Amino acid sequence: MEREIAWKKYTEAASRELEELSRRYKDFLDNGKTERECAARAIALAEEKGYVSLEAAVKAGKKLKPGAKLWSAPMGKAIMLFVIGKQPLEDGINIIGAHIDSPRMDLKQNPLYEDTDIAYFDTHYYGGIKKYQWVALPLAMHGVVVKKDGTVINVVVGEDDDDPVLCISDLLIHLSQEQMQKKAAEVIGGEDLNVIIGGRPLKDADEKEKEPVKANVLKILKDKYGFEEEDFLSAEIEIVPAGKARDLGFDRSMIMGYGHDDRVCAYAELEAIFALKGAPKKTCCCLFSDKEEIGSVGATGMQANYFENAVAELLELTGGYSDLKLRRGLANSKMLSCDVSAGYDPNFASAFERKNAAFLGRGVCFNKYTGSRGKAGSNDANAEYMAEVRRIMDDAKVSFQTAELGRVDLGGGGTIAYICAKYCMNVIDSGVAVLSMHAPWEIISKADLYEAKKCYKAFLEKA
Ligand code: MN
Ligand code: MN
Repeated sequence: MEREIAWKKYTEAASRELEELSRRYKDFLDNGKTERECAARAIALAEEKGYVSLEAAVKAGKKLKPGAKLWSAPMGKAIMLFVIGKQPLEDGINIIGAHIDSPRMDLKQNPLYEDTDIAYFDTHYYGGIKKYQWVALPLAMHGVVVKKDGTVINVVVGEDDDDPVLCISDLLIHLSQEQMQKKAAEVIGGEDLNVIIGGRPLKDADEKEKEPVKANVLKILKDKYGFEEEDFLSAEIEIVPAGKARDLGFDRSMIMGYGHDDRVCAYAELEAIFALKGAPKKTCCCLFSDKEEIGSVGATGMQANYFENAVAELLELTGGYSDLKLRRGLANSKMLSCDVSAGYDPNFASAFERKNAAFLGRGVCFNKYTGSRGKAGSNDANAEYMAEVRRIMDDAKVSFQTAELGRVDLGGGGTIAYICAKYCMNVIDSGVAVLSMHAPWEIISKADLYEAKKCYKAFLEKA
């Protein structure tokens, strides 16, 4: 049951659409390196398309008619877009859900120090990373610093061509005899992820100044951004790879970028919901959650109740809330949990089982189940639901493939699928195959991005 490569079927017009979509996606990646940046960008794009704030609609007690478009962004780190359908909410919602947090290094609460005339930021990594991949490459910092008076300062350093970049050093090969014998997990330790941020002492520093390089960095931060060392206590600053997403390969068929997991699915979702014309049959939702990489926990993770709360508000504004209507609406909903899948990599063939692997360029990938070691932790989608999804994909001529996340017993992973499934709704994982997943620079095929958008649009319209 080998699936065909999607590229073969593209007409010239389709190839052009694919390139334009890829260009818009790269722009989204370049402007969204944190969950906050992605959410802000999604809100801006949605408002251009006529979406209004759900919170504002609630305040105004505005009755919502079919075709109404709303956004809600819990704490600015997760986001939900809704298009109200012609059928009542009790009939269920068609949901496409991804996550917009990506593996990275976060600054510790007390990050600044100086050692041997070099100033550093101390970090705590976020999500699953191979720590040795994050040294000796240009890094940028993105985030917010919140002053005691509530002022929010946005900080981005390392992205403009004339910005400085930051970096974590590695040991020179000449002296690495011991390091090279270590296990990969230990080559670089969590406490070794210290980011170089300066090497010049403060001019005319007081003789008693013990850390003049750090003092100079603090002066620069104060002059440029207006915050002080204490303000790091109330900051969220993420260290990410510096630079833009790029076309990969002589044929430009792929994109190398930071955060394809899971912004590629998120962006495909955005374009899919924006492509809806008028009022859909059922209410449609495009959802981006946060904290997926650390277990979907916290107030902005999928385990929080914001989705349920938003649906309750929508019920109230479309015909009256009741607990029973809410429960029915959620149970009747259908969802694509849109998250990336492990792309088959011939360099690491033994990690996969070829009959059940996702190949770059063969279209959007459905995972009936994820989990690890005996499907543990998986949402195992129903065969009946999988059949419906197959029909929708075939009718819409979407290239798709099915896969497991690698060889049985080797490892595994999860998504937000099982969390939404607890409402008894049908959920299946679907996404784009990625090479070098969770590395600073990940790889996808443009064809899979293109097919994902088509898949998500067909699902919103036809499920
Ligand atoms: Mn993911
Ligand atoms: Mn991930």
